[in-house]
Amino acid sequence: MFFSRTSATFWRRAILTTGMVLLSACSDRPSAADPLPGSAPEQPKPVTTLAPLDGDGQPVPSETFAQWQARFRQQALQAGIRPQVFDAAFAGVEPDPAVVTADRSQPEFTRPVWEYLDNAISANRVRRGQTLMSQYAAVLLQLEQRYGVDRQALVAVWGMESSFGQIQGDKSVIRSLATLAYEGRRPTFAQDQLIAALQILQNGDITADRMRGSWAGAMGQTQFIPTTYNSHAVDFDGDGKRDIWGSAADALASTANYLAASGWQKGQSWGFEVQLPEGFDYAQADASLRKPVSQWLAEGVKLPAGSTLPPESGGLQAALLLPAGYRGPAFLILDNFRVVLKYNNSSSYALAVSLLSQRLAGSGGYILGNWPKDDMPLTRSERIELQTLLTASGYDAGNPDGIIGANTRKAIRSAQQQRGWPADGYANHALLESLRKR
Ligand code: CA
Repeated sequence: MFFSRTSATFWRRAILTTGMVLLSACSDRPSAADPLPGSAPEQPKPVTTLAPLDGDGQPVPSETFAQWQARFRQQALQAGIRPQVFDAAFAGVEPDPAVVTADRSQPEFTRPVWEYLDNAISANRVRRGQTLMSQYAAVLLQLEQRYGVDRQALVAVWGMESSFGQIQGDKSVIRSLATLAYEGRRPTFAQDQLIAALQILQNGDITADRMRGSWAGAMGQTQFIPTTYNSHAVDFDGDGKRDIWGSAADALASTANYLAASGWQKGQSWGFEVQLPEGFDYAQADASLRKPVSQWLAEGVKLPAGSTLPPESGGLQAALLLPAGYRGPAFLILDNFRVVLKYNNSSSYALAVSLLSQRLAGSGGYILGNWPKDDMPLTRSERIELQTLLTASGYDAGNPDGIIGANTRKAIRSAQQQRGWPADGYANHALLESLRKR
């Protein structure tokens, strides 16, 4: 889903979103480092030990895979995994070099949010989603009644996570997680997931052979990581197994259970597009700054001509989202948008789920504002250069890691304010050029 994944982004999301959840396998992940502005602090670099480095400057594990496996086996047994379950799951397992490569990749180019959304909300996906809404109408009605989550949101997440079950990832989850636990960038996280995966096998929900997923261990139609599976997966079709791989009903119910636990409000809007007045203070575009919708409107924020406020939203708390800076479309986002971020902490992802939901319901979901298509996202090298130049200019951008997080955004705003520019905190070429000339 959403992205040509960068492993840095992947791990960051995996580790810092406390309720985290799922990491997707597929093609719809946003490639940008785009945690919702203000939603999370920047994270330190992954911790690696002082192990020797290979030709690519990557640490070499200090023990063989067999030695690691013997050690980890003790740990798994202490966690309650039966020896025969462990041994069957690990029979013939060797590290997967493709997983190591994916884990270490740091893509240079970032897909612009407008291209990401075009791909995520294709006409094909909307048609297929609407067909499935009809096909699973009875299940969806029951899920709405039991969990209080709107059917179009469930189908939108299903479409984003696995293209409605078509793209689930075909890697052995045990092998992928064992590889990451042995020589990945976040071994402790991978070990925890691996123990959880062994618990799933021990419970008998799925066989090791059918337990497939992304290189990062996100599984099935919902792309749940094993710990999320253990806390939230549901057997809805009543066959005694929580089959998020083969049963659409189980997958939809598991998603409903997760969204409900994250605070979904049935019937409430995710948010809506707005237009900002002349002279607006763009520094207010930050997820941590929330005000009632009515207050934003009183301060001059307007609805586009012809659109109306979602019912009963005037008193709800809203934050302002500018996915491509002040020159692009603007949105006021409500609580259900934040719930979707708990599934996946990316504002592009949450926007795609939200707009796709509206399209599926046949009630809008089209963006009226224009994207600044002449302003392509910075590459990873350019983001690192921007961070380095910001810090050298006295604006502390934190660790120059190419991730535009809270510290970097704050530094960008200060540099923009000092220049008398709109302080939207958005990293772009104009600021990079200006800092280069300094
Ligand atoms: Ca089932």
